[in-house]
This record gives sequence, C-alpha cells and structure tokens, in this order.
Amino acid sequence: MSGDTYRSLLQSIGAGSYVQESSSDEDLQQQLEAFASKCAGKACERIRQAAVASKHEPGIPFGLWLQEREENQATARQVLNVLKLPVSQNATKTDKELWDGLWQVSREENAWKILHDMVPRVPLSDMAERAGTCTAVGRFEEVASLIEQSSHILVLTGAGISASCGIKTYRDNDGFYASIAKEFGLSDPEQVNDIRTFRKDPLPWFKHIKGIVPDKRAPRGPSLTHQFIRALEVRGKLLRQYTQNIDTLEIAAGISHVTFCHGSFASATCVKCGFHMTDGTQVNATIADGKVPYCEQCADGVMKPDVVLFNEPMPAGVLDGIEQHTGDADLLLVLGTSLAVTPCSLIPALVGLGDAPRVLINAELAGRDSDFEHFLKGPSDVTVQRLLDALDWHLGDKASAVEGE
Ligand code: NAD
Repeated sequence: MSGDTYRSLLQSIGAGSYVQESSSDEDLQQQLEAFASKCAGKACERIRQAAVASKHEPGIPFGLWLQEREENQATARQVLNVLKLPVSQNATKTDKELWDGLWQVSREENAWKILHDMVPRVPLSDMAERAGTCTAVGRFEEVASLIEQSSHILVLTGAGISASCGIKTYRDNDGFYASIAKEFGLSDPEQVNDIRTFRKDPLPWFKHIKGIVPDKRAPRGPSLTHQFIRALEVRGKLLRQYTQNIDTLEIAAGISHVTFCHGSFASATCVKCGFHMTDGTQVNATIADGKVPYCEQCADGVMKPDVVLFNEPMPAGVLDGIEQHTGDADLLLVLGTSLAVTPCSLIPALVGLGDAPRVLINAELAGRDSDFEHFLKGPSDVTVQRLLDALDWHLGDKASAVEGE
C-alpha cells in the first residue's frame, strides 16, 4: 500500500487528525496497524461503518471486508443483514450458497457499488401494491412505448416462458425433484442436478429432465413469448437474449442472438472420453425413451446433453457477455424467472448502473425492489399479447414467421 492509501484509510475511519503532513509511510502504517489490532478483528468493519456514515464508498476492497467477516465466523445471513440486503428472498438458500454469491460479487471491480445498488429503495410492500395496479392498460402502453423507442433491448428469460408449452418450471416441479431424490436415496433434492451425482448414476437426472428434453418425434412449439422475442430480433431491436432455459425453444422460434447461460440440449458430450456431438437429437431421443445414451466412440461412457449441472463451470463467454451487454442495453425485459440463480440474477442490478429502464414480466414479483421500474404481473403470454396489441404488431401462427415485415 502507498502512503496516500494509509492516509486516506486513516481519514475514512475518522482518525484524520492524527495524520501529520510529515508522517512517514512507516508511521502511517504503524498507526493503521495499531488501529487494526485495537479493533480486534473489526478494523474493516470500522472502516465500512465510517464510510456509510459519511456516505462514501469504503476505501478497502469488499473482498477484504468479507474475509474479515468470515474470519469472525459471521453467517452469510448476518452479512446480508449488515449490508441491508433482503434475506427473506434468499430463504431457501443454504448459508454456503449465500457465501458463494457474496464471494462472486467480491470479484467485481465495483463490488461496493453493485451491493449499494441492490439495497431496496422501495419497501417490498409498496412494490406489491404497485403490482396490483400494474395490470392497468396505461402500464402496458407505457412499456409498449419503451419497446417502440428502444433499439438495444436486452432480454432475460427463465422457465416461466416455457410453462405454456407444457414444460413445468423448476418451482412447480419441486415435489417431483424431492420424489426422485427419495427414490434414488439422495439426501437433498439438489443432488439430482449435481454433476457428482450424475457421474455416479445418471438415472436420477435423466428421469428429472424427461419432461424437458426435446423429442423430435413429439416436437414442442415455442410460446407466444418466444415468438415475441423473435419479433424483436426481426425488427432489429434485440441486443441479446440471455436464457436460463435448456429446452432449446429459442432455436425452435428462430432466435439467433441468444446465449444459453445454463447450456442446452442442442449438443452432447461423453462424460468419460469427451467425445462431442454437435447434434444432440439422437441422445435426446434415447433419454425421452427412458434409456441411457452411451458414447458411440468409447462405448461405455454416458453421453450427457451439454446442460450445466451444479458444480460445473458456466459455458465460456457468458460472464463476459453479460458484462458487455448490460452496459450496452437501452431497455431490459425480464420474463418468467424467479431470479434466484447467479449470474443472471445480477443482470438487473448491472443494467441499473446505467439509466436503461428495466421491466419485469412475471407471474410474481422476483428480484430485489431496486431491480425494476416496471412490473407487469401475470402469465407472460397474456402480457405479451397485450403488448403486441399496444404495439400493433402481428405475429404469424408459425414460430418464426413475423407478418408485416
Ligand atoms: P423458476 O422455476 O425458479 O422460476 C420460474 C418463474 O416464472 C417464477 O417466478 C414463476 O412465478 C414464473 N412463472 C411461472 N409461470 C409463468 C408464466 N406462465 N408466465 C410468466 N411467469 C411465470 O425458473 P428459473 O428462474 O428459470 O430458474 C430455474 C432453473 O431451472 C434454471 O436453471 C433452468 O435452467 C432450469 N429449468 C429450465 C426449464 C426449461 O428449460 N424450460 C424448466 C425448468 C427448470
């Protein structure tokens, strides 16, 4: 650290009067160390508190402060409370998952600012009240006019936009998960989706995804919401769609500017020898038949669709893409997601660093209160139809057809 940093740290904790113009770097360092030891493991927290009181950003990295909290054996919920971040929305998460989320934020250069922007400014109750009035026609027209004016629309989607295609959302499938876990003797339903479980026995996961896997013999059509996103693309308004879905209905809808954040069933890879199939159709058909797909190269390895399971890395480019596109967007539309999974759950806050309006179209409130300026409550297809009416856009019956181009 430089002498200037010691000086500004001492000033930020209210010890500025002890800083002499003539103080050497060594003196300043000693004063800071004395302060740190006196605070018995709370030096970083003192600095944060002083910064909050003076409405400044703490002069230390968020990761350093977090490390101190961890060393003091704070729980993640205590940390979130201190930061004034809502704990209730994370009720189903384990402490470890919450800690993982905090460490992930700590890797961002502007972590303090991201966290500051996540603090709810509108009480949840007010937002819920607003939700009741959001279904008024005026709100649809307001959002429709935002769409009309925008040319770099960032779209984030989740399982809710495929619900009308007959695919259950994660939430709606909760009980199914638990029953599979029980059937295969797994202690936690989440283990069904874990790569470590899959490597030992792929059957729990194959059974779970039978209701999502695309089957060429009984193809599903995309929903009106998928078609609407395609219509944005055809009209040159779609910057990018980030989907958490794995069902590939974006491809069926003809959307090309799309990132599959959790991978998809479009391709498959052997978990043993790494043999890669760019076309997952055959593998998917075998899974849909209730059988295990084996590798045609090494013969005894299991072919896994390129869907990201827990404890697997994100597909390359997702994080960089999010960073770039959240900065370039002039409007954010978030549809059919509970916003419970990072990194996509951070997208509204990242867009919020700029001034693009943010719209949530969902069956229920999701995310943090500070995440959205507009909320259109209800099934996404119903909301989308009203937006289409307000925009006077007409979609053809077929997935990719857009009339009036
Ligand atoms: P989620 O199940 O956690 O949340 C779905 C959200 O959509 C909820 O907030 C729900 O209220 C809302 N919703 C339900 N029906 C809706 C409708 N008709 N219109 C609008 N909103 C509706 O889903 P998630 O946030 O996408 O995260 C779940 C995880 O599970 C993801 O990782 C995803 O890959 C995986 N998943 C994918 C699929 C799929 O590909 N179709 C299906 C189930 C689960």
